[in-house]
Amino acid sequence: MSERNAFDVVIVGGGLAGAAFALALRDTAWRVALVEPKPPQEPGDGWDARVYAFSPANVAWLRALGAWDATVRQQPVYAMRIAGDDGGHLAFDALEAGLPELAFIAESNRLHHALWQGLRAAGNIDLIAAGTAAVAWGAHQHELILADGRHLQASLLVGADGAHSWLRGQANIGLAFEDYHHVGVVANFACERPHRGIAYQWFRQDGVLAYLPLPGKRVSIVWSTTPERAEALQALPETEFSATVTVAGQERLGALKLVTPPQGFPLKRRRAEQWVRSGLVLIGDAAHTVHPLAGQGINLGFRDARRLAEALRDTRRAPGDLGRLQAYALRRDEDVRSVQFVTGGLKKLFGSEDGLVRWLRNTGLSVTDSQNWLKQALMRHAIQ
Ligand SMILES: Cc1cc2nc3c(=O)[nH]c(=O)nc-3n(C[C@H](O)[C@H](O)[C@H](O)COP(=O)(O)OP(=O)(O)OC[C@H]3O[C@@H](n4cnc5c(N)ncnc54)[C@H](O)[C@@H]3O)c2cc1C
Repeated sequence: MSERNAFDVVIVGGGLAGAAFALALRDTAWRVALVEPKPPQEPGDGWDARVYAFSPANVAWLRALGAWDATVRQQPVYAMRIAGDDGGHLAFDALEAGLPELAFIAESNRLHHALWQGLRAAGNIDLIAAGTAAVAWGAHQHELILADGRHLQASLLVGADGAHSWLRGQANIGLAFEDYHHVGVVANFACERPHRGIAYQWFRQDGVLAYLPLPGKRVSIVWSTTPERAEALQALPETEFSATVTVAGQERLGALKLVTPPQGFPLKRRRAEQWVRSGLVLIGDAAHTVHPLAGQGINLGFRDARRLAEALRDTRRAPGDLGRLQAYALRRDEDVRSVQFVTGGLKKLFGSEDGLVRWLRNTGLSVTDSQNWLKQALMRHAIQ
Protein backbone atom coordinates (compact mmCIF):
# COMPACT_ATOMS: atom_id res chain seq x y z
CA MET A 1 0.00 0.00 0.00
CA SER A 2 1.56 3.28 -1.08
CA GLU A 3 1.40 6.42 1.10
CA ARG A 4 -0.64 8.06 -1.66
CA ASN A 5 -3.52 5.64 -1.21
CA ALA A 6 -3.76 5.83 2.61
CA PHE A 7 -6.51 8.14 3.85
CA ASP A 8 -8.12 9.04 7.15
CA VAL A 9 -11.54 9.48 5.55
CA VAL A 10 -12.79 8.05 2.24
CA ILE A 11 -16.25 9.25 1.16
CA VAL A 12 -18.12 7.03 -1.30
CA GLY A 13 -20.55 9.21 -3.31
CA GLY A 14 -20.26 12.90 -4.15
CA GLY A 15 -23.93 13.91 -4.43
CA LEU A 16 -25.11 16.89 -2.38
CA ALA A 17 -24.56 15.17 1.00
CA GLY A 18 -21.16 13.60 0.21
CA ALA A 19 -19.76 16.69 -1.56
CA ALA A 20 -20.88 19.06 1.24
CA PHE A 21 -19.41 16.74 3.88
CA ALA A 22 -16.08 16.55 2.00
CA LEU A 23 -15.97 20.34 1.73
CA ALA A 24 -16.65 20.66 5.48
CA LEU A 25 -13.47 18.64 6.11
CA ARG A 26 -11.26 20.85 3.91
CA ASP A 27 -9.75 22.73 6.84
CA THR A 28 -9.15 19.72 9.08
CA ALA A 29 -5.93 17.74 9.46
CA TRP A 30 -7.53 14.59 8.05
CA ARG A 31 -6.45 13.23 4.70
CA VAL A 32 -9.67 12.94 2.72
CA ALA A 33 -10.69 11.30 -0.59
CA LEU A 34 -14.04 11.55 -2.36
CA VAL A 35 -14.92 8.74 -4.78
CA GLU A 36 -17.60 9.70 -7.32
CA PRO A 37 -17.88 8.16 -10.80
CA LYS A 38 -20.14 10.96 -12.14
CA PRO A 39 -18.98 14.42 -11.00
CA PRO A 40 -21.53 17.15 -11.87
CA GLN A 41 -21.38 18.98 -15.21
CA GLU A 42 -21.35 22.76 -15.46
CA PRO A 43 -25.07 23.74 -15.50
CA GLY A 44 -26.41 25.52 -18.60
CA ASP A 45 -28.95 28.37 -18.54
CA GLY A 46 -31.97 26.04 -18.49
CA TRP A 47 -33.86 25.32 -15.26
CA ASP A 48 -33.19 22.12 -13.35
CA ALA A 49 -36.36 20.09 -12.67
CA ARG A 50 -34.84 19.09 -9.29
CA VAL A 51 -35.57 22.04 -7.06
CA TYR A 52 -35.36 21.84 -3.27
CA ALA A 53 -36.36 23.88 -0.24
CA PHE A 54 -33.31 24.39 1.99
CA SER A 55 -33.59 25.29 5.68
CA PRO A 56 -32.01 28.62 6.81
CA ALA A 57 -29.56 26.81 9.14
CA ASN A 58 -28.36 24.59 6.29
CA VAL A 59 -28.07 27.62 4.01
CA ALA A 60 -25.95 29.40 6.65
CA TRP A 61 -23.69 26.32 6.78
CA LEU A 62 -23.45 26.09 2.96
CA ARG A 63 -22.70 29.81 2.88
CA ALA A 64 -19.86 29.32 5.38
CA LEU A 65 -18.54 26.55 3.10
CA GLY A 66 -18.53 29.10 0.24
CA ALA A 67 -21.01 27.08 -1.85
CA TRP A 68 -24.26 28.98 -1.37
CA ASP A 69 -23.55 32.40 -2.82
CA ALA A 70 -22.03 30.75 -5.90
CA THR A 71 -25.40 29.05 -6.49
CA VAL A 72 -26.78 32.43 -7.67
CA ARG A 73 -30.37 31.45 -8.57
CA GLN A 74 -32.17 31.23 -5.25
CA GLN A 75 -35.47 32.40 -3.87
CA PRO A 76 -36.22 33.11 -0.20
CA VAL A 77 -39.56 31.80 1.09
CA TYR A 78 -41.28 34.38 3.30
CA ALA A 79 -44.54 32.56 3.91
CA MET A 80 -46.24 29.24 3.43
CA ARG A 81 -49.93 28.51 2.88
CA ILE A 82 -51.21 24.99 3.45
CA ALA A 83 -54.73 23.89 2.51
CA GLY A 84 -56.57 20.69 3.45
CA ASP A 85 -59.01 18.88 1.18
CA ASP A 86 -62.08 20.14 3.04
CA GLY A 87 -61.56 23.72 4.16
CA GLY A 88 -58.69 23.17 6.64
CA HIS A 89 -55.89 25.72 6.41
CA LEU A 90 -52.57 26.57 8.01
CA ALA A 91 -50.35 29.60 7.40
CA PHE A 92 -46.74 30.24 8.35
CA ASP A 93 -45.21 33.70 8.09
CA ALA A 94 -41.55 34.50 8.60
CA LEU A 95 -42.35 37.99 9.91
CA GLU A 96 -44.74 36.65 12.56
CA ALA A 97 -42.01 34.35 13.81
CA GLY A 98 -39.41 37.13 13.77
CA LEU A 99 -37.42 35.37 11.05
CA PRO A 100 -36.06 36.91 7.85
CA GLU A 101 -37.26 33.87 5.86
CA LEU A 102 -38.63 30.35 6.35
CA ALA A 103 -36.52 28.60 3.70
CA PHE A 104 -34.67 29.11 0.43
CA ILE A 105 -35.48 27.45 -2.87
CA ALA A 106 -32.67 26.58 -5.28
CA GLU A 107 -31.87 24.17 -8.09
CA SER A 108 -30.06 20.98 -7.18
CA ASN A 109 -27.62 21.04 -10.12
CA ARG A 110 -26.33 24.58 -9.40
CA LEU A 111 -25.68 23.87 -5.73
CA HIS A 112 -24.09 20.53 -6.60
CA HIS A 113 -21.75 22.18 -9.09
CA ALA A 114 -20.88 24.97 -6.63
CA LEU A 115 -19.94 22.39 -3.98
CA TRP A 116 -17.65 20.63 -6.46
CA GLN A 117 -16.07 23.93 -7.52
CA GLY A 118 -15.34 24.50 -3.82
CA LEU A 119 -13.73 21.07 -3.58
CA ARG A 120 -11.55 21.70 -6.63
CA ALA A 121 -10.51 25.11 -5.28
CA ALA A 122 -9.70 23.65 -1.84
CA GLY A 123 -7.06 21.48 -3.50
CA ASN A 124 -6.50 19.21 -0.47
CA ILE A 125 -9.29 16.66 -1.07
CA ASP A 126 -8.46 13.82 -3.47
CA LEU A 127 -11.30 13.73 -6.00
CA ILE A 128 -11.38 10.25 -7.51
CA ALA A 129 -13.60 9.73 -10.57
CA ALA A 130 -13.96 5.95 -10.43
CA GLY A 131 -16.49 3.26 -9.66
CA THR A 132 -16.20 0.93 -6.68
CA ALA A 133 -15.62 -2.83 -6.83
CA ALA A 134 -15.24 -4.28 -3.31
CA VAL A 135 -14.37 -3.58 0.33
CA ALA A 136 -11.95 -5.57 2.49
CA TRP A 137 -13.05 -4.93 6.08
CA GLY A 138 -10.23 -4.73 8.64
CA ALA A 139 -10.01 -4.26 12.41
CA HIS A 140 -8.63 -0.69 12.30
CA GLN A 141 -8.56 0.16 8.61
CA HIS A 142 -10.82 -0.80 5.72
CA GLU A 143 -9.66 -1.16 2.13
CA LEU A 144 -11.80 0.12 -0.72
CA ILE A 145 -11.05 -1.50 -4.06
CA LEU A 146 -11.96 0.65 -7.03
CA ALA A 147 -13.21 -0.57 -10.42
CA ASP A 148 -9.93 0.60 -12.01
CA GLY A 149 -7.96 -1.69 -9.67
CA ARG A 150 -6.73 0.96 -7.23
CA HIS A 151 -6.84 0.13 -3.50
CA LEU A 152 -7.62 2.92 -0.98
CA GLN A 153 -7.09 2.49 2.75
CA ALA A 154 -9.34 4.35 5.16
CA SER A 155 -9.74 4.71 8.90
CA LEU A 156 -13.30 5.87 8.17
CA LEU A 157 -15.44 4.94 5.16
CA VAL A 158 -18.42 7.26 4.65
CA GLY A 159 -21.35 5.94 2.62
CA ALA A 160 -22.96 8.96 0.91
CA ASP A 161 -23.91 6.94 -2.16
CA GLY A 162 -27.65 7.53 -2.15
CA ALA A 163 -30.84 5.57 -1.51
CA HIS A 164 -29.53 2.40 -3.22
CA SER A 165 -26.21 2.64 -1.34
CA TRP A 166 -23.62 0.19 -2.63
CA LEU A 167 -21.54 0.58 0.55
CA ARG A 168 -24.56 -0.23 2.76
CA GLY A 169 -24.98 -3.43 0.73
CA GLN A 170 -21.26 -4.30 1.05
CA ALA A 171 -21.55 -3.92 4.82
CA ASN A 172 -24.67 -6.16 4.82
CA ILE A 173 -26.65 -3.50 6.65
CA GLY A 174 -30.39 -4.17 6.47
CA LEU A 175 -33.01 -1.62 5.50
CA ALA A 176 -36.40 -0.85 7.07
CA PHE A 177 -38.51 0.05 4.10
CA GLU A 178 -41.99 1.36 3.37
CA ASP A 179 -43.38 2.04 -0.09
CA TYR A 180 -45.48 5.22 0.13
CA HIS A 181 -47.23 4.13 -3.12
CA HIS A 182 -46.66 7.66 -4.32
CA VAL A 183 -44.65 9.07 -7.20
CA GLY A 184 -43.38 12.66 -6.94
CA VAL A 185 -44.02 14.46 -10.24
CA VAL A 186 -41.72 17.50 -10.52
CA ALA A 187 -41.77 20.26 -13.15
CA ASN A 188 -41.11 24.00 -13.45
CA PHE A 189 -43.61 26.58 -14.68
CA ALA A 190 -43.80 30.26 -15.58
CA CYS A 191 -46.67 31.83 -13.64
CA GLU A 192 -48.98 34.65 -14.66
CA ARG A 193 -48.99 36.44 -11.29
CA PRO A 194 -46.01 37.10 -8.95
CA HIS A 195 -45.64 34.57 -6.11
CA ARG A 196 -44.17 37.12 -3.65
CA GLY A 197 -41.97 34.43 -2.10
CA ILE A 198 -44.94 32.39 -0.88
CA ALA A 199 -44.88 28.57 -1.02
CA TYR A 200 -48.20 26.73 -1.32
CA GLN A 201 -49.19 23.19 -0.45
CA TRP A 202 -52.52 21.45 -1.04
CA PHE A 203 -53.40 18.19 0.67
CA ARG A 204 -55.72 16.62 -1.88
CA GLN A 205 -57.53 13.33 -2.04
CA ASP A 206 -55.16 12.23 -4.81
CA GLY A 207 -51.99 13.29 -2.94
CA VAL A 208 -50.06 16.43 -2.08
CA LEU A 209 -49.30 19.29 -4.46
CA ALA A 210 -46.65 21.89 -3.61
CA TYR A 211 -45.72 25.12 -5.41
CA LEU A 212 -42.18 26.26 -4.57
CA PRO A 213 -41.38 29.84 -5.64
CA LEU A 214 -38.39 30.29 -7.97
CA PRO A 215 -36.67 33.58 -8.83
CA GLY A 216 -38.82 35.72 -11.16
CA LYS A 217 -42.32 34.68 -12.10
CA ARG A 218 -41.62 30.97 -11.90
CA VAL A 219 -42.56 28.07 -9.65
CA SER A 220 -41.45 24.50 -9.27
CA ILE A 221 -44.04 21.88 -8.37
CA VAL A 222 -43.89 18.55 -6.57
CA TRP A 223 -47.13 16.62 -7.00
CA SER A 224 -46.93 13.44 -4.92
CA THR A 225 -49.68 11.13 -6.06
CA THR A 226 -50.54 7.51 -6.86
CA PRO A 227 -48.34 5.85 -9.51
CA GLU A 228 -51.34 5.63 -11.90
CA ARG A 229 -52.24 9.32 -11.52
CA ALA A 230 -48.55 10.28 -11.87
CA GLU A 231 -48.26 8.33 -15.10
CA ALA A 232 -51.45 9.92 -16.45
CA LEU A 233 -50.21 13.43 -15.52
CA GLN A 234 -46.87 12.89 -17.25
CA ALA A 235 -48.61 11.59 -20.38
CA LEU A 236 -50.73 14.74 -20.76
CA PRO A 237 -49.93 17.13 -23.63
CA GLU A 238 -48.02 20.21 -22.39
CA THR A 239 -50.96 22.64 -22.43
CA GLU A 240 -53.28 20.18 -20.70
CA PHE A 241 -50.70 19.42 -18.01
CA SER A 242 -50.23 23.16 -17.40
CA ALA A 243 -54.01 23.66 -17.18
CA THR A 244 -54.40 20.71 -14.76
CA VAL A 245 -51.71 22.06 -12.41
CA THR A 246 -53.23 25.57 -12.65
CA VAL A 247 -56.66 24.27 -11.59
CA ALA A 248 -55.25 21.96 -8.87
CA GLY A 249 -53.49 25.04 -7.44
CA GLN A 250 -56.80 26.94 -7.40
CA GLU A 251 -55.34 29.46 -9.90
CA ARG A 252 -53.47 31.10 -7.02
CA LEU A 253 -50.80 32.38 -9.40
CA GLY A 254 -52.99 32.68 -12.49
CA ALA A 255 -52.30 30.46 -15.49
CA LEU A 256 -49.13 28.33 -15.39
CA LYS A 257 -47.04 27.52 -18.46
CA LEU A 258 -44.69 24.54 -18.45
CA VAL A 259 -40.95 25.39 -18.57
CA THR A 260 -39.33 21.98 -17.94
CA PRO A 261 -40.93 18.62 -18.83
CA PRO A 262 -42.33 16.65 -15.88
CA GLN A 263 -40.26 13.90 -14.26
CA GLY A 264 -41.52 11.26 -11.82
CA PHE A 265 -39.70 9.89 -8.75
CA PRO A 266 -41.07 6.83 -6.87
CA LEU A 267 -41.26 7.72 -3.16
CA LYS A 268 -40.19 5.34 -0.41
CA ARG A 269 -39.30 5.66 3.25
CA ARG A 270 -36.04 3.94 4.04
CA ARG A 271 -34.04 3.65 7.20
CA ALA A 272 -30.76 1.73 7.40
CA GLU A 273 -30.80 -0.61 10.41
CA GLN A 274 -27.41 0.78 11.45
CA TRP A 275 -25.82 4.09 10.49
CA VAL A 276 -22.45 3.39 12.11
CA ARG A 277 -20.02 0.59 12.66
CA SER A 278 -16.36 0.71 13.56
CA GLY A 279 -14.77 2.69 10.70
CA LEU A 280 -18.06 3.07 8.78
CA VAL A 281 -20.85 5.64 8.70
CA LEU A 282 -23.81 6.17 6.35
CA ILE A 283 -25.12 9.71 5.68
CA GLY A 284 -27.85 11.30 3.56
CA ASP A 285 -30.16 9.08 1.50
CA ALA A 286 -27.82 6.11 2.10
CA ALA A 287 -29.00 6.20 5.73
CA HIS A 288 -32.62 7.42 5.34
CA THR A 289 -35.19 8.70 2.85
CA VAL A 290 -38.49 10.48 3.58
CA HIS A 291 -41.61 11.62 1.76
CA PRO A 292 -40.88 15.03 0.15
CA LEU A 293 -44.06 16.66 1.49
CA ALA A 294 -42.06 18.42 4.21
CA GLY A 295 -39.08 19.17 1.91
CA GLN A 296 -36.70 17.58 4.41
CA GLY A 297 -34.73 14.87 2.52
CA ILE A 298 -31.50 16.66 1.74
CA ASN A 299 -31.96 18.90 4.77
CA LEU A 300 -31.59 15.76 6.89
CA GLY A 301 -28.57 14.78 4.76
CA PHE A 302 -26.92 18.18 5.30
CA ARG A 303 -27.61 17.97 9.05
CA ASP A 304 -25.88 14.54 9.01
CA ALA A 305 -22.90 16.09 7.20
CA ARG A 306 -22.78 19.10 9.58
CA ARG A 307 -22.88 16.97 12.73
CA LEU A 308 -20.42 14.38 11.42
CA ALA A 309 -17.94 17.10 10.41
CA GLU A 310 -18.30 18.58 13.92
CA ALA A 311 -17.73 15.15 15.49
CA LEU A 312 -14.53 14.76 13.46
CA ARG A 313 -13.05 18.01 14.76
CA ASP A 314 -11.65 16.07 17.73
CA THR A 315 -8.33 14.82 16.33
CA ARG A 316 -7.24 12.93 19.46
CA ARG A 317 -9.12 9.82 18.33
CA ALA A 318 -9.00 8.03 14.96
CA PRO A 319 -11.77 9.17 12.59
CA GLY A 320 -13.31 5.68 12.59
CA ASP A 321 -13.44 5.40 16.40
CA LEU A 322 -16.71 3.60 17.21
CA GLY A 323 -17.49 5.62 20.36
CA ARG A 324 -17.27 8.85 18.40
CA LEU A 325 -19.50 7.48 15.63
CA GLN A 326 -22.07 6.12 18.09
CA ALA A 327 -22.31 9.51 19.79
CA TYR A 328 -22.88 11.07 16.35
CA ALA A 329 -25.61 8.52 15.46
CA LEU A 330 -27.40 9.07 18.76
CA ARG A 331 -27.43 12.79 18.11
CA ARG A 332 -28.98 12.33 14.66
CA ASP A 333 -31.55 9.70 15.58
CA GLU A 334 -34.28 11.94 17.02
CA ASP A 335 -34.22 14.37 14.09
CA VAL A 336 -34.59 11.61 11.49
CA ARG A 337 -37.24 9.71 13.48
CA SER A 338 -39.38 12.81 14.00
CA VAL A 339 -39.22 13.84 10.30
CA GLN A 340 -40.07 10.27 9.20
CA PHE A 341 -42.91 10.10 11.74
CA VAL A 342 -44.46 13.44 10.79
CA THR A 343 -44.18 13.04 7.01
CA GLY A 344 -45.35 9.39 7.08
CA GLY A 345 -48.22 10.29 9.44
CA LEU A 346 -49.42 13.21 7.31
CA LYS A 347 -49.24 11.08 4.16
CA LYS A 348 -51.39 8.38 5.82
CA LEU A 349 -53.79 10.88 7.38
CA PHE A 350 -54.47 12.59 4.07
CA GLY A 351 -54.58 9.27 2.19
CA SER A 352 -57.66 8.07 4.09
CA GLU A 353 -61.11 8.32 2.50
CA ASP A 354 -62.94 7.94 5.81
CA GLY A 355 -65.30 10.90 6.42
CA LEU A 356 -64.36 11.26 10.09
CA VAL A 357 -60.63 11.20 9.32
CA ARG A 358 -61.25 13.80 6.63
CA TRP A 359 -63.01 16.09 9.12
CA LEU A 360 -60.29 15.52 11.73
CA ARG A 361 -57.38 16.28 9.41
CA ASN A 362 -58.93 19.51 8.16
CA THR A 363 -59.90 20.59 11.67
CA GLY A 364 -56.38 19.64 12.80
CA LEU A 365 -54.83 22.00 10.24
CA SER A 366 -57.07 24.90 11.28
CA VAL A 367 -56.57 24.23 15.01
CA THR A 368 -52.80 24.21 14.48
CA ASP A 369 -53.23 27.50 12.64
CA SER A 370 -54.91 29.05 15.68
CA GLN A 371 -52.20 27.88 18.13
CA ASN A 372 -49.33 30.27 17.83
CA TRP A 373 -47.05 28.31 20.20
CA LEU A 374 -47.50 25.15 18.07
CA LYS A 375 -46.75 27.00 14.85
CA GLN A 376 -43.64 28.53 16.42
CA ALA A 377 -42.48 25.05 17.53
CA LEU A 378 -43.04 23.63 14.02
CA MET A 379 -41.16 26.53 12.46
CA ARG A 380 -38.27 26.19 14.92
CA HIS A 381 -37.77 22.59 13.75
CA ALA A 382 -38.16 23.41 10.05
CA ILE A 383 -35.50 26.14 10.07
CA GLN A 384 -32.75 23.87 11.49
C1 LIG B 1 -39.61 14.44 -5.82
C2 LIG B 1 -38.60 14.77 -4.77
C3 LIG B 1 -38.55 16.04 -4.22
C4 LIG B 1 -37.66 16.35 -3.20
N1 LIG B 1 -37.66 17.61 -2.64
C5 LIG B 1 -36.83 17.87 -1.61
C6 LIG B 1 -36.86 19.18 -0.96
O1 LIG B 1 -37.61 20.10 -1.30
N2 LIG B 1 -35.98 19.40 0.08
C7 LIG B 1 -35.13 18.43 0.51
O2 LIG B 1 -34.39 18.64 1.48
N3 LIG B 1 -35.06 17.21 -0.11
C8 LIG B 1 -35.88 16.91 -1.14
N4 LIG B 1 -35.83 15.68 -1.75
C9 LIG B 1 -34.82 14.70 -1.28
C10 LIG B 1 -33.47 14.84 -2.00
O3 LIG B 1 -33.66 14.71 -3.38
C11 LIG B 1 -32.49 13.75 -1.52
O4 LIG B 1 -32.56 13.64 -0.12
C12 LIG B 1 -31.04 14.09 -1.91
O5 LIG B 1 -30.91 14.27 -3.29
C13 LIG B 1 -30.08 12.96 -1.48
O6 LIG B 1 -28.75 13.37 -1.65
P1 LIG B 1 -27.55 12.35 -1.37
O7 LIG B 1 -26.31 13.11 -1.64
O8 LIG B 1 -27.73 11.69 -0.04
O9 LIG B 1 -27.77 11.17 -2.44
P2 LIG B 1 -27.70 11.23 -4.05
O10 LIG B 1 -28.13 12.54 -4.57
O11 LIG B 1 -28.43 10.02 -4.52
O12 LIG B 1 -26.15 11.10 -4.36
C14 LIG B 1 -25.48 9.86 -4.30
C15 LIG B 1 -24.19 9.97 -5.11
O13 LIG B 1 -23.46 8.74 -4.95
C16 LIG B 1 -22.92 8.35 -6.19
N5 LIG B 1 -22.74 6.88 -6.13
C17 LIG B 1 -23.69 5.93 -6.21
N6 LIG B 1 -23.13 4.72 -6.09
C18 LIG B 1 -21.79 4.91 -5.94
C19 LIG B 1 -20.69 4.04 -5.78
N7 LIG B 1 -20.81 2.72 -5.73
N8 LIG B 1 -19.46 4.59 -5.65
C20 LIG B 1 -19.28 5.94 -5.68
N9 LIG B 1 -20.31 6.81 -5.84
C21 LIG B 1 -21.54 6.30 -5.96
C22 LIG B 1 -23.95 8.81 -7.22
O14 LIG B 1 -23.34 8.98 -8.51
C23 LIG B 1 -24.41 10.14 -6.62
O15 LIG B 1 -23.64 11.22 -7.07
C24 LIG B 1 -36.73 15.35 -2.74
C25 LIG B 1 -36.74 14.07 -3.33
C26 LIG B 1 -37.68 13.77 -4.32
C27 LIG B 1 -37.68 12.39 -4.91
